[in-house]
Amino acid sequence: MLRQANLEAGSAMEAPQREAMEFDVVIVGAGPSGLAAAIRLKQLAAERGREVSVCVIEKGSEVGAHILSGAVIDPIALDELIPDWRDKGAPLVTPVTDDRFLILSGRGSLRIPAWMLPPLMSNHGNYIVSLGNVCRWLAQQAEALGVEIFPGFAAAEVLFDEEGAVRGVATGDLGIARDGTPKASHTPGVELHAKYTFFAEGARGSLTKQLVERFALRDGIGPQKFGLGVKELWQVDPARHKPGLVCTARLAARFDDRRRLVPLPSRGQPGGGGLRRPPQLPEPASVAVRGVPALQDPSGDPADLRGRQAAGLRRAGDQRGRPAIGAEADLPRRLPDRLRRRVRQPAADQGSHNAMKTGMLAAEAAFDALAAGEGGSRLLAAYPEAFARSWAWRDLYKVRNVKPGLRWGLWLGTLHGGLHMWLNDLGLGFLVPWTMKHGKADHETLKPAAAAPPIVYPKPDGAVSFDLLSSVFLSNTNHEEDQPVHLRLKDPAIAIDVNLTLYDAPEQRYCPAGVYEIVAGEGGRPRLQINAQNCVHCKTCDIKDPRQNIDWVVPEGGGGPNYPNM
Ligand SMILES: Cc1cc2nc3c(=O)[nH]c(=O)nc-3n(C[C@H](O)[C@H](O)[C@H](O)COP(=O)(O)OP(=O)(O)OC[C@H]3O[C@@H](n4cnc5c(N)ncnc54)[C@H](O)[C@@H]3O)c2cc1C
Ligand code: SF4
Repeated sequence: MLRQANLEAGSAMEAPQREAMEFDVVIVGAGPSGLAAAIRLKQLAAERGREVSVCVIEKGSEVGAHILSGAVIDPIALDELIPDWRDKGAPLVTPVTDDRFLILSGRGSLRIPAWMLPPLMSNHGNYIVSLGNVCRWLAQQAEALGVEIFPGFAAAEVLFDEEGAVRGVATGDLGIARDGTPKASHTPGVELHAKYTFFAEGARGSLTKQLVERFALRDGIGPQKFGLGVKELWQVDPARHKPGLVCTARLAARFDDRRRLVPLPSRGQPGGGGLRRPPQLPEPASVAVRGVPALQDPSGDPADLRGRQAAGLRRAGDQRGRPAIGAEADLPRRLPDRLRRRVRQPAADQGSHNAMKTGMLAAEAAFDALAAGEGGSRLLAAYPEAFARSWAWRDLYKVRNVKPGLRWGLWLGTLHGGLHMWLNDLGLGFLVPWTMKHGKADHETLKPAAAAPPIVYPKPDGAVSFDLLSSVFLSNTNHEEDQPVHLRLKDPAIAIDVNLTLYDAPEQRYCPAGVYEIVAGEGGRPRLQINAQNCVHCKTCDIKDPRQNIDWVVPEGGGGPNYPNM
């Protein structure tokens, strides 16, 4: 429970019955960025002999419970944050030893020779990890430095002062019934006031979304694009297990429902995926299979990755069990480390080292401002300036056009991205000075059902593809059932009049947890049923709903998936 010490009279600003706690810095989200920020703040406080109170709140039941990632990570940020991480037992124990880029088809796989790939795509020097376990370890380091971490508490509301500046956040009430009335167990949320509040909620944070709109933070830079990552852990035959192997795959073809090989549709962005082989995951030997499917077709189904049954993937499988699965939205980023010329894998979505670095830069800017007696309504102007000077910005700049170029399809988009990376790697980035923007937000790219013949997927075979319900079960998702539905429809009529009529209710398919169902309502009229307790917090519906009619808000703290080793 949140400590009762330091409580002061509740502010009359929002809800008089709420108690309040004061901190120098409040951080929403115990992912890599939030935890790195917390650690850096405390390190600076110790170095400069100044007290800084730091609190981190996390909506998962424990730190790491909601973390899902590939994850091949570049240790560059960790090297800066905790240089002796190896001595401190950080769970980065599997260096990448073999790095392959494959084109998968129904007959086999084509390996692209390493010399043809831009160095930016190399994974040499990276580690295969469970990012959830890395976060659990980071949380231990943070707590040892005096950071107060409160898992099981979701930030539900941003608090503003009289001048409209962010004053902190409030956690959600516990014990509210589905109809909105307080139950016997009702406990009001707590206000967390801070001189600086960091929103480290990950991709599509529900509070960040409000702030982006309120402060017009994307004005002039175009829409943000997202990817939906689906990850499974497979247990495989130990004899075929190769620790340290990373395969990045592009799919050239897939099977249809009659197991005929068909080319991937040229429409939309190509899907992708990969295999990572970390030995420290559940025995006897496990493979992390992740995919980032394209979702521009209304019949697109992220749970059934295109090309899953491609021969290359099937050979890698031969599974003995499937201990875990999950899904999460992701910001497509590909970052290399020019400083050391180690790799990166732009074909995958590597963001954790950037997340950590940006958290550290924000911490440094906030610490300096606190030391100078600033805070409250002052913006951290030093932060964007420090980011623009950092390796994170330089790396991102080099790959800025890779993702937007995929609008031209798999082959042309890959060629364009490859050319960009090669030129940047050769120090000839000035030859590609343009910056492409994403023209449309994700929800604007969904095609009407009439304009997109349904994609027919192979039936789950129980070997490399699986039915939805067994997958949801493996995510260990749990929500208190008697609570308000946290997937709010701004206008319930749109679900039928627009989504069903025009798009054949795509939320029935793109939701990886089967939360949305069209059922017969009164008089046999169709209605949208929302099974909110299955939600794995991937935020896809909030991003992808064609009319932005679905608003994802935090459920009671502690609810959601419980990923063990993701
Ligand atoms: C399938 C997949 C594969 C990926 N593969 C790789 C890879 O191989 N290498 C790599 O480097 N990166 C990879 N990434 C990207 C990487 O996972 C992210 O860049 C990184 O996790 C971002 O860190 P973050 O701290 O910003 O956010 P997150 O890791 O998303 O953490 C945010 C935390 O905040 C919590 N939170 C959110 N909202 C609230 C709230 N309102 N109140 C309280 N808590 C809240 C969440 O529960 C979560 O714990 C992958 C991502 C996905 C989805
Ligand atoms: S309801 Fe939305 S956020 Fe929840 S699992 Fe489905 S798509 Fe993801």
